[in-house]
Amino acid sequence: MTPQQFFRPDILAERAYHVPPAHGLIKLDAMENPYTWPPEMVEGWLDHLRSAHPNRYPDPQAPALKQALRDYARIPDEAGLLLGNGSDEIILILLTALVGQGGAKVLAPEPTFVMYRQIARWLDVEFVGVPLRPDFTLDAGAMMEALQRQRPRIVFLAYPNNPTGNLFDKNVVAEIILKAPGLVVMDEAYAPFAQSTFMGDLGRHDNLLVMRTLSKLGLAGLRLGYLAGSKEWLDQFDKLRLPYNINILTQSSAEFALSHSEVFERQTAQIRQDREKLARALGRLPGIEVFPSAANFILFRVDGASRVFDALKRRGILIKNLDPAGGPLQNCLRVTVGTPEENLRFVETLREILP
Ligand SMILES: *Cc1c(COP(=O)(O)O)cnc(C)c1O
Repeated sequence: MTPQQFFRPDILAERAYHVPPAHGLIKLDAMENPYTWPPEMVEGWLDHLRSAHPNRYPDPQAPALKQALRDYARIPDEAGLLLGNGSDEIILILLTALVGQGGAKVLAPEPTFVMYRQIARWLDVEFVGVPLRPDFTLDAGAMMEALQRQRPRIVFLAYPNNPTGNLFDKNVVAEIILKAPGLVVMDEAYAPFAQSTFMGDLGRHDNLLVMRTLSKLGLAGLRLGYLAGSKEWLDQFDKLRLPYNINILTQSSAEFALSHSEVFERQTAQIRQDREKLARALGRLPGIEVFPSAANFILFRVDGASRVFDALKRRGILIKNLDPAGGPLQNCLRVTVGTPEENLRFVETLREILP
């Protein structure tokens, strides 16, 4: 048997997730925190790691890390907590629950984070995308109608949304949570930059789950995501989790990092401030439409976006080109907020490129 005979046609037709090489470039494409740790914190971290034992399996329940996350993220005591190897793995766990349930659907407004649709396709779970309005706000009427007609088991709402950067209207989200026949997952990957959250609403709605990650906070290399919500639901999802999905280096490192949360608070406050500066600087350039952002990146539209993207790359700056996605993202580019120096270089280089 050949691979061509082995795999489903839709998998054969897919392309593997492409991470563009960034060597030697100013990397503003992946929403990473650009700041490293103070030297004494690095020393403390390495000391902390001495008590990790790589010959043993990690604790499958990771109680110390879970308590650190509960304190850091103010997760209500009554809520359950499930950890994932990045929130990508949590999306996989959530959607795995729908496999084999004929006709079970998952729904999200689009454009949004691509992994919801991608993982649903791998698992052959039907995905329903509801278009956002042209300004990337939620189309409340279309969402309500889709909830009724499609009866999705799971609704994903990225809050703030990626790649658009905006926070959806809280009242519309509240209505979706009320009207949804199944679960609503608030994906708060950018919580450190948003200063708006549904974590406090967990006790009020049984069908609400809040998903977060440490990636955008500044720990992308550790791969740690978490899901908070009703214990009754999370106990079932936990059965679909690989027992040792959070390795000891991640458990130990994340626990240590969260005990220095003030360092990340400083860094993310700086990034939030620089986001506003960057948005203003972009807005002053000719022919650029800047979309409002509550995340650590900015979406903007410019004529000939793909050419602008290539020209930036030739000059040593890597951002994200969303123009190939087309539709509402035509001529859109997404830039991650970097250090003040990186942001300045980006804006100056862009100024040189624009006609
Ligand atoms: C980056 C991102 C994630 C994935 O985060 P990981 O924890 O690194 O897997 C999830 N959701 C959204 C909206 C994101 O932008």
